[in-house]
Amino acid sequence: FTANVSHELKTPLTSIMGYAEIIAGGIAKPEDVAPFAGKIRTEAQRLLALIEDIIHLSRLDEGGETVAFEPVELSALCDTVRDRLQSKAAGKGIALRIEGGPAAVSGQRRTLEQMIFNLTDNAINYNKPQGSVTLTTGTESGRPFVQVSDTGIGIAPEHQSRVFERFYRVDKSHSKASGGTGLGLSIVKHAVQYHHGDIRLTSKPGEGTVIRITFPAAAQ
Ligand code: ADP
Repeated sequence: FTANVSHELKTPLTSIMGYAEIIAGGIAKPEDVAPFAGKIRTEAQRLLALIEDIIHLSRLDEGGETVAFEPVELSALCDTVRDRLQSKAAGKGIALRIEGGPAAVSGQRRTLEQMIFNLTDNAINYNKPQGSVTLTTGTESGRPFVQVSDTGIGIAPEHQSRVFERFYRVDKSHSKASGGTGLGLSIVKHAVQYHHGDIRLTSKPGEGTVIRITFPAAAQ
């Protein structure tokens, strides 16, 4: 993991250094300065996203923060995530829908929101033009669940178990183009384990992906 992190951190930094040296050395053409500065900003954003994800993951690794579990309504978290991602989805021509009913769990609000956010963000990033993303909540045999489904590019069977590994990406350039860190689904997996839930992925290349997370029944 350390070797991977070092590599992932070094790549944007090398690029930042390169552009900064050209500008500082006075060898950039005047019309190139603004686009080079833009590239430095993009790479810096990538670094920030990566550092935030690494911090989330290490907190979960350490057994979570010392934040106590509290009653959390998953449908309310879906509303919050929709508000956060609505304009991104609209910008890509993707419809973001919410369905279903109440799903009350006991858990860490922030971690659960991050989990739904990461799944929804992926469902938008790996979608197709005019596609859709649906967030569904409810109960299944008394167990609360949240499900994120998309009409996107799908994940081939040989990649389906591996996408939860740290830094594993099916298509590195697609992930990078959408600002991905390669850590989103491993954060989701850890968050689910932390809440004693189950995660189920079903996907068909070219058709879309459904990820459903089911939590223990309230009485347990
Ligand atoms: P990333 O930051 O690259 O999105 P993730 O850990 O969130 O990292 O996901 C790992 C990989 O799984 C992605 O790079 C992508 O190839 C694949 N993936 C994740 N979600 C989806 C989805 N909804 N549809 C298709 N592919 C997906």
